[in-house]
Amino acid sequence: MRIDGLSLDFFRNYVHLDAAFDPNINVIYGDNAQGKTNLLEAVAYLSGVSHRARYDRELIQFGVDHAFLKGHVFARERDFLLEAELHRGARRVLRSNGVKLKNSGELSGIFQSVLFCPEDLYLIREGAAARRRFLDSAICQLRPRYAMALAEYKKLYEHKIRILRDWTEKPSLLDALDEFSLRMAQTGAVLIHYRAHFIRRLQEVVPPIHSDFSGGRERLDLRYETVKTVTDPEAPMRDILSQLLEHQESHRQAELESRQCLSGPHKDDLAVDLDGVSAKTYASQGQTRTAALSLKLGCREIFFHDTGEWPVLLLDDVLSELDHRRQEFVLNRIAGGQVFITCCEDDRLPVLLGGKVFHVKQGAIG
Ligand code: ATP
Ligand code: MG
Repeated sequence: MRIDGLSLDFFRNYVHLDAAFDPNINVIYGDNAQGKTNLLEAVAYLSGVSHRARYDRELIQFGVDHAFLKGHVFARERDFLLEAELHRGARRVLRSNGVKLKNSGELSGIFQSVLFCPEDLYLIREGAAARRRFLDSAICQLRPRYAMALAEYKKLYEHKIRILRDWTEKPSLLDALDEFSLRMAQTGAVLIHYRAHFIRRLQEVVPPIHSDFSGGRERLDLRYETVKTVTDPEAPMRDILSQLLEHQESHRQAELESRQCLSGPHKDDLAVDLDGVSAKTYASQGQTRTAALSLKLGCREIFFHDTGEWPVLLLDDVLSELDHRRQEFVLNRIAGGQVFITCCEDDRLPVLLGGKVFHVKQGAIG
């Protein structure tokens, strides 16, 4: 799949942009703060992913009330015109070939991207939340049902947290506690089921990538860490449900006393080991970078196996950070799909890579 053209109006620092892309390699270069990442962000947005902005209004140009994105996308042997209209103070409107879409998951169902950016280096080093975000974002793009369950789980979690926080002042709140716990366990079982299957696929594709990447010198292992009582996260959901309920029951008193939600997959983690020791604790900077990139390239392969097409790969500011051998490795590995690569003005990359080169300056391309 690929994006052939992109138009932006009042998106971030682009007043207006019309760009036609190369089906293979697009290099976007320019000084700092000119709009390179913004351009990648626009492409990612049309694939249903918002990695930088918490709210759509951040994407709308300062001093303006609306932003428009339009992408000409080719996927599943068909052309799609994907559109997003963002408004300050009103709901966004998403369309595919003129037909309104219900949510960003429907964009992901048509067009998929995998983004790798400098912040992803924290994927390995940071706490479990960063790795859950990674899992959630990837699985949401592949499975609409997961996205729905995740949204539901977050809502239930917020409710339950409020009950646990306020129950001593308002004991009547406790009447609803068991109901929320039950629904969280039901929805949690769905999350665990999908996460377990996705991690199983990561376990197949990521270690060989990492091994190639490190010249066969390092072994990477992935492990799903979820609620203790869940003996087999890949088991049918009803088995997971009963194990989650058992865990909740044993933590009920502790939750009431600590006023925290202690039981459930909102604490899940994806453990990454290098040569048998925790990467989070022991990996060097180079190893961290390699492992994070392997995870992302692994996602790209899973997307490919799932849909039969390569998702668009967005590499923001990362290639120039790698040594020559690793750059070469990435470039060989990504052959086949469309890729966008940003780099800085004085980089040698644009010459090395070929493809189409865009020079970004103050929200315009030349
Ligand atoms: P770097 O090389 O430092 O990563 P970049 O070219 O990737 O730079 P971007 O992150 O794309 O830079 O940002 C370009 C500019 O867009 C920034 O100066 C930022 O202030 C501006 N910007 C961000 N959001 C908005 C917005 N909503 N309206 C107007 N300008 C914005
Ligand atoms: Mg940038």
